Amino acid sequence: MKSELQEELNIFKESVVRFIENEIAPHYEQWEKDKIIPKSVWHHMGEQGFLCCDIPEEYGGFGVSVDFNFLVTEELAKAGFFSLACNILVHADIAAHYVLNMGTEEQKQKYLPDMVSGHCIGAICMTEPGAGSDLQGMKTTASKTDDGWSISGSKTFITNGQNSSLYIVAAKTNLDVAGSKGTSLFLVDDDSDGFERGQNLHKMGQHAADTSEIFFESVQVTEADLLGELDQGFLGLMHELPRERLGCAAIGVAHAEGALNLAVEYVKERQAFGAPLAKLQDIRQKIADMATQTELHRVMLEHYKELLTMKKLTPVQASMAKYSSCEMEGKVIDQALQMFGGYGYMQEYPISRFYVDARVQRIYGGTSEIMKEIIGKGIIGRL
Ligand SMILES: Cc1cc2nc3c(=O)[nH]c(=O)nc-3n(C[C@H](O)[C@H](O)[C@H](O)COP(=O)(O)OP(=O)(O)OC[C@H]3O[C@@H](n4cnc5c(N)ncnc54)[C@H](O)[C@@H]3O)c2cc1C
Repeated sequence: MKSELQEELNIFKESVVRFIENEIAPHYEQWEKDKIIPKSVWHHMGEQGFLCCDIPEEYGGFGVSVDFNFLVTEELAKAGFFSLACNILVHADIAAHYVLNMGTEEQKQKYLPDMVSGHCIGAICMTEPGAGSDLQGMKTTASKTDDGWSISGSKTFITNGQNSSLYIVAAKTNLDVAGSKGTSLFLVDDDSDGFERGQNLHKMGQHAADTSEIFFESVQVTEADLLGELDQGFLGLMHELPRERLGCAAIGVAHAEGALNLAVEYVKERQAFGAPLAKLQDIRQKIADMATQTELHRVMLEHYKELLTMKKLTPVQASMAKYSSCEMEGKVIDQALQMFGGYGYMQEYPISRFYVDARVQRIYGGTSEIMKEIIGKGIIGRL
């Protein structure tokens, strides 16, 4: 990385870390109880320039490199504020980039400046009760009307589902062909007639993140709300997935690094058999494994960020990064928790939150099994 960029990132990091310490840490426990992060926090982050940093200046962003975006979510994950990291990933690295890369000029002007300021939070609605890994099985449809489309169906597990005002919705627009050829994306505002939020779902972790069912009952949208080409929604999805998956990997690596830091601090303090735990060879060996794994994945991540910047990151590489980093995250955090003994199982110890939050990383954004399918097929090629 060029030293000039590294210097700018260091300065940016200082302000992000300070913000996390002063504005996130003192309130996070309450947000976990509330099961949502107040919109005012999004506005505040927008004011500080922490949202959608790499959106071009003509749409209200700063036009800086993707490293700035990732730095925000990584620092949040490293500090253990994983819910907010994932909320922002979906908003800034996924939803905003669908609009930027597929949107018309009018759509970009309408949404992106407010996404940068945090006044419009974005969500992406793919998964349905009967269609997750196999998105071709989705049942939500958009039928042609005189002046646009009428969307009907339901989605589930939608991140930012309660807080968002912009929902990017995948719906079938041609039922006569395979889903991959007859699906389109639509920009749906939350004040549209027939749009309804379901409950804020109860999850085993990520307690401060709002995750919801969303219902569409003949929601009327216009031609101007179609995002990208008609029937080409899957192509858009395929285009955006590498970034989404690398974003999950980045959060995973940072989350593991944060857990490792907590474990190292703890084993130096905790006394057993007349000495700190860190004096035990077994503990040192485990710390060595955890540190080696996080370091290996950090190196991979930084290399892949460069490829992403150059638009050279392949779907196979992004899947490798997501699969391997999220599996590693789970193992390292499990090992870190073990070092805390019974205290690790107590909610007042942050490592317990790392543990429950991490589990979902192997499930969303494409499960580990689906990642391996993509990697295996990509390596073997067509038979
Ligand atoms: C907290 C959270 C947030 C989420 N946020 C969003 C969001 O913002 N937007 C959104 O659209 N979705 C979101 N999701 C949904 C997520 O992407 C899906 O849960 C995920 O893709 C898996 O789909 P599924 O739950 O239907 O599981 P299934 O697809 O039913 O899979 C069940 C199991 O079968 C395995 N399996 C399935 N197919 C294969 C195969 N071909 N080979 C081998 N194994 C296979 C899977 O790996 C898994 O282990 C979120 C989910 C969670 C839990």
